Amino acid sequence: MSEDSQPPTLAHEQPAAIAFLIIGGGPAAFSAARSYRKHGGTGRLVMITPDADAPYERPPLSKDFLRGESDEGALTMAEPGETERLALEITIDTARSLDPGQQIVRTHDGQTFTYTQCLLATGADPARLPVPGGHHEALLTLRSLADGRRLQQAARTASTAVVIGSGFIGCEAAVSLARLGLHVTQLSAEPAPQLRRLGPDAAERIAGWLREEKVELLTSAEVQSFEVDQDGVSVRAEGLDPVRADLVLLAVGVTPNCALAQDAGLPLHEGRIVTDARMRTPVAGLLAAGDVAFAENLSAGRHLQVEHWGEALTMGQIAGATAAGLQDQKDDDHSWSSAPGFWCELGERTLKYAAWGDGFEGAELRTHDESGFTIWYTGAHGATVGVLTHQGDDDYERGHTLVESAQPPPR
Ligand SMILES: Cc1cc2nc3c(=O)[nH]c(=O)nc-3n(C[C@H](O)[C@H](O)[C@H](O)COP(=O)(O)OP(=O)(O)OC[C@H]3O[C@@H](n4cnc5c(N)ncnc54)[C@H](O)[C@@H]3O)c2cc1C
Repeated sequence: MSEDSQPPTLAHEQPAAIAFLIIGGGPAAFSAARSYRKHGGTGRLVMITPDADAPYERPPLSKDFLRGESDEGALTMAEPGETERLALEITIDTARSLDPGQQIVRTHDGQTFTYTQCLLATGADPARLPVPGGHHEALLTLRSLADGRRLQQAARTASTAVVIGSGFIGCEAAVSLARLGLHVTQLSAEPAPQLRRLGPDAAERIAGWLREEKVELLTSAEVQSFEVDQDGVSVRAEGLDPVRADLVLLAVGVTPNCALAQDAGLPLHEGRIVTDARMRTPVAGLLAAGDVAFAENLSAGRHLQVEHWGEALTMGQIAGATAAGLQDQKDDDHSWSSAPGFWCELGERTLKYAAWGDGFEGAELRTHDESGFTIWYTGAHGATVGVLTHQGDDDYERGHTLVESAQPPPR
């Protein structure tokens, strides 16, 4: 809807002030609603989300859901009757502007919400590549359930796919598409998948697994352009012959949805909203959580940018507790201090990663029986800053504690 065609705001004005207004319908948002009630919040609770399917699990979208091994019913986050029990009012709309002085949010459809506390849990959207053809709608991305349906549908009729990007989601989707019988070419801008993030030992293993899964992995491949015609897409990358495919999936990272925060004049760090460990922004009554937040982590002793499901739930939980009135208590259970963790599934193989995620100085590989391994990442003074395991669950569990307490890896 254009600016001019907006219905008059007053016609839609809400009758009562909202105690806790949640913007977003992802895990951070839903977990905040649950936590607000759990911690005694009794006021009016409203969630604004443009996604009529929300809230649902995103992780299966690149895994079992894409392969057709689970259905939409399995994605639902809310238990039967939970939304009613929480007295959570869900409005399908997009928040368009935020006035922190008046404590008012206005939406795309012309509604106006006055709040006492407001949580920005707007997450992130898939990034696009700034190259010719990079914004063509035929190039698929994967974030929402609607994206997941579209990709699943496209995979049914395609015989070739190109996946751009070799982060966790790109690798998972490439393997899932290959398992559906498509010929998959994966283009990675790095010399090996996740080399910068996880180091050479992990990168070499991930590359080997992708190839075992019959994914054709092309590395150091900087995409230069896309040409879309009625028969498919041609992808041009530096130094390579053009690759043609029926389906192209862009998995090149995400861009945080920070427009509202920017509008409200909140301090941002690389597009993310700066908060303390209780998810409070410097502006009274405004909180942020999940992928859009750059939150202080007490154990890390610094602010972190995290794009993990579990952390979005945790941050949401903390934000809900804060909104319920626990913000003035000296209770560290309601502050963010845990080490972020992430699981990646490449076919039957699972990688588990717990780390601050902002770099490392040393990486030590230890192999276990069969193909299992653990990589211990260390930072300044030999403190553990991360652990990556495959078939090493004990190390993964122990790793969390070592990371949080800045102790060295076990000998
Ligand atoms: C395919 C896929 C697989 C993944 N697998 C894993 C995994 O295995 N493990 C893991 O740890 N993480 C995984 N992730 C990442 C994880 O899903 C995210 O970290 C998590 O969803 C972030 O939660 P969030 O609530 O911060 O944001 P999101 O889940 O992005 O939710 C944000 C919500 O805000 C809404 N919104 C945005 N702007 C507005 C606005 N202006 N007004 C109203 N609503 C708005 C959006 O529509 C959305 O509903 C995966 C992600 C994807 C896409």
